[in-house]
Amino acid sequence: MPATIHDLLIVGGGINGAGIARDAAGRGLSVLLCEQGDLGGATSSASSKMIHGGLRYLEYHEFRLVAEALAEREVMLRIAPHLTRPLRFIMPHVPSLRPAWMIRLGLLLYDCLGRIGSLNRRVTLPGSASIDLTRPPIAQSLQEHYGQGFVYSDVAVDDARLTLANARAAFLLGAGIRPRSRFIGATRAHGLWQATLENADGTTVVRSRALVNAAGPWVAEVCAALPAGTGPRAKVQLVKGSHIVVPRLYPGEHAFILQNDDRRVIFLLPFEEKFTLIGTTDVRVEKPGDAGITADEVAYLCRAASRYTRTAVAAGDIVWRYSGVRPLFDDGQNDPSRVSRDYTFVLDQTDHVPALSIFGGKITTYRRLAEKALARLAPWFPHMGPSWTDHRPLPGGDFATLAELVETLQSRHPALPPAWLKSLARRHGTEAVRVIGDARSAADLGLNFGGGLYQREVEYFIEHEWAKSADDILWRRSKTGLLMTAAEQDEFHRWLQTT
Ligand SMILES: Cc1cc2nc3c(=O)[nH]c(=O)nc-3n(C[C@H](O)[C@H](O)[C@H](O)COP(=O)(O)OP(=O)(O)OC[C@H]3O[C@@H](n4cnc5c(N)ncnc54)[C@H](O)[C@@H]3O)c2cc1C
Repeated sequence: MPATIHDLLIVGGGINGAGIARDAAGRGLSVLLCEQGDLGGATSSASSKMIHGGLRYLEYHEFRLVAEALAEREVMLRIAPHLTRPLRFIMPHVPSLRPAWMIRLGLLLYDCLGRIGSLNRRVTLPGSASIDLTRPPIAQSLQEHYGQGFVYSDVAVDDARLTLANARAAFLLGAGIRPRSRFIGATRAHGLWQATLENADGTTVVRSRALVNAAGPWVAEVCAALPAGTGPRAKVQLVKGSHIVVPRLYPGEHAFILQNDDRRVIFLLPFEEKFTLIGTTDVRVEKPGDAGITADEVAYLCRAASRYTRTAVAAGDIVWRYSGVRPLFDDGQNDPSRVSRDYTFVLDQTDHVPALSIFGGKITTYRRLAEKALARLAPWFPHMGPSWTDHRPLPGGDFATLAELVETLQSRHPALPPAWLKSLARRHGTEAVRVIGDARSAADLGLNFGGGLYQREVEYFIEHEWAKSADDILWRRSKTGLLMTAAEQDEFHRWLQTT
C-alpha cells in the first residue's frame, strides 16, 4: 500500500487537467497528474490557437460563455504574454450570407460583453470597427470584389506551450506530473480513491482523497473505469476539427474570419512568422482516437479560403496538417457546428469520496473552468486557499513587453544567434535565461538540428518539460518541425533515439 495520500489525482494532462493542477497546487493541495501520452498531446495542441470570445456563438445565444471567454483574453495576455498576442480579425462583408446590420449588432454586443466581463480591469484590446478592404495591406490579401468589412479583436495563443506552462507551474508548486502514465481504473476504499496507473515500467497504485476526470475526449472511458454508479450523467459528443498550414498567404499581422456558403466560418491566422494557419472543420466521430484529416476536409478548407484569398490555396501548398477531437458536452444538438462549446461538471460523491468529471470546455476558458472545478471540490478541502490564477504569471510570463525581453536577451548575448534568442523569448519568456544557461557563443549551443533548434534547448525540453519523442519537441515544445527539411527531421529522430 503506497504511503503518500494525494488530495487530488487528476487524470488527463490537457489544458484542463494542467490548469486544475496548477490552480490546486497553488492553493496548497497535494496533486498528482497522470497523462497517458504527452502533455497537451491530444486536443490541447490541435486547436485553432485562439483565445477568443467566439463571435459565432452569439448566433446560438451562448452569452454566458462568450462573456466569460472575452474576459479571459485580457487575463491571458497578462499572465502569459510570451504565449499570447493580440490579433485583429477582419471579416469581409458578404451581404448574401449575413446582413451588415446583423454583424454590426453582433460586434457591438461582443465589445459590450468584453467590457462587462473585464470590469475593474484594464482593457487593452481595441474594439470593433468597419473597415475599407480596398486599402493596403488588406487589398493585397483579398480578391478585388470584397470592398467593405469589419474588424474586431481576439488573441492568438500557443496552445501546446500554454498547457505545458500550466503543468510546469503545477510542478514548481509541488505537484507530481506523470506523462506517459495511463490511468487504468480506481476503487473507493477506506474513504479514499485507490487508483492503478500504468507506464512503460509496469503498474503502480496511488491513493487520493478526490479524483478529477479531465480526460477530454476519453472522459466517458475514464468514467467507465470507475466503480459502477460513477458513470456519466452527462454525455460527450466527439467532433473532429482539422487545420492546414501553408506558406504565408498575405502580408500583415491580421487574421481573417471568412464566412462560407454553408454558414460556417473558417479562420486564417498568421502562424510562426512564415506561415498561414487555416481551419477548421466540424465532423462528428465515434471514438476519441479518431483524429486524422481527410482529403474531403483538405478540399473543404482550400475551397473556403480560396473564395476570398487573392492567392488560391491548393492541397499541394500544405506544409503541415493536424486534427483534434473536441470533447463537447452533448446538449442533444444534431449539427456538430452548433453543439455548445461551454463546459459542465458531473460530481459523483458516493461514500463522500468525490469524482469530478469534466465535459466540454475551451482553451480560452480553462482557467475559469479550473476555478469552478475547485469550487465544486471545496467542501472536501476546507483549508484550501482562495483563487489566485488571474494575477500570477505563468512560468516565464513575468515581463513587460516581448520586444523589451528580446532586446535584453540579444544585448546580453551578442554572440548567440539573434533569431534563436527571439524564438526562445516567445517559447519560454523570462525562462529563456535558464535555457541559455552558461552559453556564450553558438558553439556552446551544441548540435544545430536545423529550423532554429539547438541541442541546448532540446536538453532543456527533456529535462524540464517532460519531452521524450521527436514529435514532442518538433511539434509541441516548438514548431521547429515546420522549418526543418525532411532529412533534418529524420536525422533528429535518429539522434534522439541514440541519445
Ligand atoms: C479543431 C479544434 C479547434 C479548436 N479551437 C479552439 C480555439 O481556437 N480556442 C479555444 O479556446 N478552444 C479551441 N478548441 C477547444 C479546445 O482545444 C479543447 O476544448 C481543449 O483542448 C480540451 O482540453 P482537455 O484538457 O479537456 O482535453 P485534451 O487536451 O484532449 O486532454 C485530455 C488528456 O487526457 C488524456 N487521457 C485520456 N485518458 C487517459 C487515461 N486513461 N489516463 C491518462 N490520461 C488520459 C489524453 O491523452 C489527453 O491528453 C478547439 C478544439 C478543436 C478540436
